[in-house]
Amino acid sequence: MTQTFDEPAASPALLLLGTRTDPMSERGVDCPGDLPAASDPGLVERARAAKEALGDRVFILGHHYQRDEVIQFADVTGDSFKLARDAANRPGAEFIVFCGVHFMAESADILTSDNQAVILPDMAAGCSMADMAGINQVEDAWAQLEEAGVASRTVPVTYMNSTAAIKAFCGRHEGAVCTSSNAEVALRWAFDTVGGVAGDGKVLFMPDQHLGRNTAVLGLGLGLDDCIVWDPRKPLGGNTPEAIAAARMILWKGHCSVHGRFRKDNVDTLREQVPGINIIVHPECTHEVVTSADFVGSTEYIIAAIDAAEPGTAWGIGTELNLVRRLADAHPDKQVHFLEDTVCFCSTMNRIDLPHLVWVLESLVAGTVPNRIVVDAVTQEQARIALDRMLALPAQQPEKD
Ligand code: SF4
Repeated sequence: MTQTFDEPAASPALLLLGTRTDPMSERGVDCPGDLPAASDPGLVERARAAKEALGDRVFILGHHYQRDEVIQFADVTGDSFKLARDAANRPGAEFIVFCGVHFMAESADILTSDNQAVILPDMAAGCSMADMAGINQVEDAWAQLEEAGVASRTVPVTYMNSTAAIKAFCGRHEGAVCTSSNAEVALRWAFDTVGGVAGDGKVLFMPDQHLGRNTAVLGLGLGLDDCIVWDPRKPLGGNTPEAIAAARMILWKGHCSVHGRFRKDNVDTLREQVPGINIIVHPECTHEVVTSADFVGSTEYIIAAIDAAEPGTAWGIGTELNLVRRLADAHPDKQVHFLEDTVCFCSTMNRIDLPHLVWVLESLVAGTVPNRIVVDAVTQEQARIALDRMLALPAQQPEKD
């Protein structure tokens, strides 16, 4: 089945996960086909046999937040951008099975050739953060910024965790994409195009307000009062014309439903319980959590930091639980703690499970391409411009404490 994700003009209706079809959202799409039962004891063997039968025709990408039962079959693991690049570097693979969420599969489709099929094992594996910025909302916000007379000195920058339509918007409006690894250089580049960080230009940062704020304040030295939040449900995003005129960072009101749940209390409690513990968190956490941590950085940075840590050291990690558990298993000589016991897995990432992977692989063996993600040609071209602007940026120095 081939499915496209152009966003229509109407507001999305709220649908339950996995029920009916909501083409405006990453949520709520049917999963066609008969899934094997999760209780089938032969699932691992079936996945292995199907993967072997497909050989080099298939390339399986596993995001760091995926379940162990899925990760064991990944040819490569990584964050969303690394995986999209890995896919682009495998032009011989006919089928790219993306074990991650929808926006990641879209990015892989943009960066791979047209004769490669990018497949998302469960179409209901969306991202709540990406869903928080719909293209119609962003177009509407931009029109209001134009009316307020500030759009011409505002550069839109979107986090990788956004729909292809938002990336294309940035491509059309002289903006760029960034990742959590290069957000600082991307923001410097954006400000440089409108007079520099010390000037009066602005950045519209989407969709994660926390990554935008943390990078602007801790990386670029802007003040918290240089940042305003744009709530797409309110006129002028809930701001006065004066506040918009004075702002340097216009932060879209979006967040990650996993990282946004960590609290400063969690940091304080863990420090009390484990004296000398190092706290390391992802920049999608709130500013309060990030400023109370010892280290902040992307998923790849967190993995590298724990790999390089001295035996016997203790670490409290604020990122997705599947990854933290794998880090704890991989480093029995270090104390690895999850920052907050009640924060759970990323529910949409977890929709990709072994039954879905088996179903996808066996369908490919049988000659059917299920759940193909296709980004239309115009969106691809414009999104590619924004991605290429990011790729042209100088490498960012590793994050610091
Ligand atoms: S962890 Fe957060 S940003 Fe990542 S896919 Fe889940 S909801 Fe989206």
